[in-house]
Amino acid sequence: MAHISQTPVPPTSGVVGGSTSSDPAATVHVPARPATPAPASGTSAAFGSSAAFGAPATGTAAGARGAAKLPTSCDFTVFGGTGDLAMRKLLPALYSRDLEGHLPADTRIIGVSRSELDDDGYRAEVRAALHRFVEPERLDETVVERLLGRLHHLCLDAHDPEGWHLLHALLKDRPHEEETIRVFYLAVAPVIFGPTCNRLADLGLADERARVVMEKPIGHDLESSREVNDAVGDVFDEKQIFRIDHYLGKESVQNLLVTRFANTFLEPLWSSRWVDHVQITAAETVGVGTRGGYYDHAGAMRDMLQNHLLQLLCLVAMEPPTFVGRENVRDEKLKVLQALRPLTPADVDRLTVRGQYGAGLVDGAPAAGYNEDLGEHVPEGGSRTETFVALRAEVQNWRWAGVPFYLRTGKRMSTRYSEIVVVFKQPPHEMFPHATGPVVGNRLHIRVQPDEGMQLLVTAKEPGPGGIRLRPVSLDLSYATTFAERSPDAYERLLMDVVRGDPTLFMRRDEVEAAWTWVAPILETWAASHEAPKRYPAGTSGPYASAALLERDGRSWQEPDQ
Ligand code: NAP
Repeated sequence: MAHISQTPVPPTSGVVGGSTSSDPAATVHVPARPATPAPASGTSAAFGSSAAFGAPATGTAAGARGAAKLPTSCDFTVFGGTGDLAMRKLLPALYSRDLEGHLPADTRIIGVSRSELDDDGYRAEVRAALHRFVEPERLDETVVERLLGRLHHLCLDAHDPEGWHLLHALLKDRPHEEETIRVFYLAVAPVIFGPTCNRLADLGLADERARVVMEKPIGHDLESSREVNDAVGDVFDEKQIFRIDHYLGKESVQNLLVTRFANTFLEPLWSSRWVDHVQITAAETVGVGTRGGYYDHAGAMRDMLQNHLLQLLCLVAMEPPTFVGRENVRDEKLKVLQALRPLTPADVDRLTVRGQYGAGLVDGAPAAGYNEDLGEHVPEGGSRTETFVALRAEVQNWRWAGVPFYLRTGKRMSTRYSEIVVVFKQPPHEMFPHATGPVVGNRLHIRVQPDEGMQLLVTAKEPGPGGIRLRPVSLDLSYATTFAERSPDAYERLLMDVVRGDPTLFMRRDEVEAAWTWVAPILETWAASHEAPKRYPAGTSGPYASAALLERDGRSWQEPDQ
């Protein structure tokens, strides 16, 4: 449960993460007091259980109230098994599940790439990756060896029909082959999705036991996303396709659903009647790094806003589903995307801001500008790709009419954090005319990363005799301090949902297409504009126009360092 921290919070503060308090009891908490660890019982099971959103493959309401069971045998084929995503995220996530004893006992992992690696060579690469990307205190050599023992590598080119019979032979050559779940993870460029799926179909491996996982980017626009989805959809049924958005696997994001729908206190307040506006920020301090070639063709809108930020918006704005499972959540998210007010070219000029970072200081160190970071990928005359977007959206339905949803994302910003802030309206009437101190509107901060947690800002009376002094204080739920359990990485949860066959936290095709449909006029208007993205120095919160977007409405961004 949460505690009340009496740490003074300035009226505009947005700090959620890094809470140092460690008393999860529901009492008034003075931070200087020694920590009192609370029993991690009751509520922790609700948040921590991997079954919290589980639903069986049947999809019936009754059945969906239990979790789908993990199969006992699984073959996990990673196309792009030597790539950055596999080494940095997927294999460490599978290791962590193995460490926790949650990987189906009879699991094999088959890395596929064009590299001339045998099984031992691949194991050596994966061993090095695990030592690099798994927290040292979680490295258990026995489990590392067990995971390496599950590994195979096949040298295949998705564009070349040669050699694919080896994959077929390997997948067929195992005990309980006919009961084994086959996961095909497409950790390769989207142009390879189609040829890979076709080869799987030719080999008879795309049967009902198969699941295919797609990574972003799913297309560059509506048309190309349809092409990618058609290519995979020609082979696999929609219910076999898992489009991953790792934001949806984060504990705090799932907790948003639990907080909204497993409690009653928020629901009556969750509408235009009491909510003034919503802010969603995903800020990175890094630049484009080595991904310049990809990023310069994508930009912040395609890389972050079209998927991650719109998905978060959906979870904030969606109606309560009948129950949380399979299609119900996705049905409700789709309705939100379809209710987004389309932006005309004039709206795009007024309600969107695109920026590009120039040279500046990040964490006190000089940082180069975007064009310099692009290196060999910089186009002639310099790039016009946006590394920052801010915009004002509206959900046109009964609940949200008139409530602005401000979204922003950028690279090379001052602080790395992702957060949703629901800002409630001011009290309708001043009840403490003689009080000193501000009455701030309540705010619910949902910190997605880092330091996942939730903070509710309330106005309280400062203790002491005499007049009434008002002070904003916060009710904190920090995952790290409230729950004894470690918060698993989003990929850990999502990979197991794929194995289990639970698509609740994955994007359905119609959602992806609705999101592309909404961003299309923005991208088109920008492309037709002669205006370049507005420059902002690296290490700041974006161009001034982003602040002005809210100032025009009498509001301001909640910055984490306020
Ligand atoms: P990467 O480091 O370039 O790795 C690409 C992988 O695909 C390598 O294993 C590569 O091995 C293999 N590959 C390339 N062409 C192939 C072919 N014709 N046949 C078989 N294998 C082939 O890329 P990545 O960063 O891992 O990203 C992979 C995909 O996930 C991309 O679409 C990316 O946009 C997306 N994604 C990545 C991240 C991330 O954090 N890295 C996050 C979200 C989405 P060989 O060259 O040896 O064949």
